Amino acid sequence: MGTLLEAIERGSVIGVLGAADAVLATKQLAERQTQALNAIRELHERETTLCIECADKWPCPTIRAINEAGA
Ligand SMILES: [Zn+2]
Repeated sequence: MGTLLEAIERGSVIGVLGAADAVLATKQLAERQTQALNAIRELHERETTLCIECADKWPCPTIRAINEAGA
């Protein structure tokens, strides 16, 4: 699960993940990777062509980071 954790940390560093996202994800990662991913994906839901959480174009950088990690 190193790859996913790296993706989360990278997202925090470049600012695409909010502090709440990173804390939640890291905490839940210890318990279950899938739950952490679902929690993030629930926050970053699609609303028409935008992400609800970051108001960025869907897929937003957070979702892309997760997808890039292959998770
Ligand atoms: Zn988003």
